[in-house]
Amino acid sequence: MKHKIIQKNDILLISAILLAACFLAVFFFAKEDSTEGAFLEITADGELYGRYPLNEDAVIDINGTNVCEISNGHVSMIEADCADKSCVRMKEISFEGESIICLPNRIVLKITGCASAEEGVDTVAG
Ligand SMILES: [Zn+2]
Repeated sequence: MKHKIIQKNDILLISAILLAACFLAVFFFAKEDSTEGAFLEITADGELYGRYPLNEDAVIDINGTNVCEISNGHVSMIEADCADKSCVRMKEISFEGESIICLPNRIVLKITGCASAEEGVDTVAG
């Protein structure tokens, strides 16, 4: 009787461990491929236009004048209506602190670190 109960618990435990292992593996591989906790911060005309996670591919239209793209954790300006288009020619950015600036349109693309602290992400207490 007692032995049976232990076995049942063991199965539950093993299932739980396997599940956790699967979850961790998925989490690990997903993390491996992306820049951890980094964000693309877009500033237009001196004001924060938006903040986007680097690990999600996206094409973002900025004020109808510039278009930037997040792809595989790399950010590049793919379109701009400015005269020199130096922002489009700029090298893609992926590391914290790097930036792409479109001077004529006053648009700044900047990689920032983990924004969770200021974003007020709900933390589960207990
Ligand atoms: Zn430009």
